[in-house]
Amino acid sequence: MGWLGLDDTDSLNGGCTTEVFHRLLNGLPEDAELGTPRLVRLWPFAQRRTRGNAAVAVEIRSNDEPALLNHLDRWWKNHIFPLTGDVQESTISERVQTPASPGMVWFSRPPDAAIYWAAVRGEVSEEDLPKPLRRWGGHGCIGATAAVAWPAMTFTWEAIAWRKNGANGPRFVDENTLLMLDAWPEVVFSRDPRRGKQLVAPRGVSPVLFGLRALSESTAERACRTLLNAEDTEEAMGWRVFQTNQASGDHLEGSIIGDVLALEVDSVRKHAMLTVSENTLIRVFAESGPVNALARWLMPGDRIEVRGLRHPDGSVHAEQMRLVESVPRARLRPLCPSCGHRMKSMGSGQGVRCPICKHRSGDDWVSVESKPPYESWVEPEVDGRRHLARPLEWRKNQ
Ligand SMILES: [Zn+2]
Repeated sequence: MGWLGLDDTDSLNGGCTTEVFHRLLNGLPEDAELGTPRLVRLWPFAQRRTRGNAAVAVEIRSNDEPALLNHLDRWWKNHIFPLTGDVQESTISERVQTPASPGMVWFSRPPDAAIYWAAVRGEVSEEDLPKPLRRWGGHGCIGATAAVAWPAMTFTWEAIAWRKNGANGPRFVDENTLLMLDAWPEVVFSRDPRRGKQLVAPRGVSPVLFGLRALSESTAERACRTLLNAEDTEEAMGWRVFQTNQASGDHLEGSIIGDVLALEVDSVRKHAMLTVSENTLIRVFAESGPVNALARWLMPGDRIEVRGLRHPDGSVHAEQMRLVESVPRARLRPLCPSCGHRMKSMGSGQGVRCPICKHRSGDDWVSVESKPPYESWVEPEVDGRRHLARPLEWRKNQ
């Protein structure tokens, strides 16, 4: 008996580690008894990462471990190793892609959880890994090991269904049934209520038909069966329920509290960049919606608290923010339309000028809403969050 982990088998334009894993589990010898499969998301900034940066693992009990390991050897050679270096020309993403470097590990018992915490909060290299009983392949062994080591202290569930072989083009997932499932209290993140958009079926090329997230295993399973049986859902190749670290908040440790020293706003995209005390740069992307709106309202002197991930470039990418205290609001000069810095007056009746790029305009003032757009913690809308992000609403109960 032991633990199997797998990672890095997918490329941006097709393939998915969960599907490769599903086939592997279906092909195991008859006497192999499975524990609960797990889907573990890792550090989003890892240098080499797969699309959703997720690895998978499962406990397998077998009466004949040598035979099981021989079987895994053969499976690796025939079905997984051939995926190595598979980079397909991508039409859906401009992201620079590294070739798949699948990795698979077998541990008699899960290694210390420290390797999970290291891999969900930062960069881990192959030399840092605890030694498994057996390992196959390359870089993917990092995620595979982290998935086995995950202590599953905080977790949610996801039922994933895969499309039939070769299915391509638009996905058919019964919209009415999905709407009904979204009303189940234990089904989560299935719909963006603001835009009335479903969030369970991926866009683009992927063998995944849908992924339904839930607060319990039984709800994930029941919702999945209901959706698969619905009239307008296409026939699936198979499905499986995973225990996951999605929405665990495991990637974040503590928060930053500081005074805003400067604010710049990208005039086109509306991304905000805050400089807070101790020279910390905080990026608040437009995609973070309400967090970005709060950031753009801020002024030097305001005190904020931020939860976010530190990017390798040193900046913090804000995920959740709150205003601790604000300085009194007055009239302000506008932000420079070309570089985003606050314009300055050139003297009475002389108009304003950007101190950075020297852009000029008339003697303008902007009125600043004296009330912040949000009085308490804010987070992005459901479709703008990381897989790992723990919703604010759930934090209150901890
Ligand atoms: Zn300027």
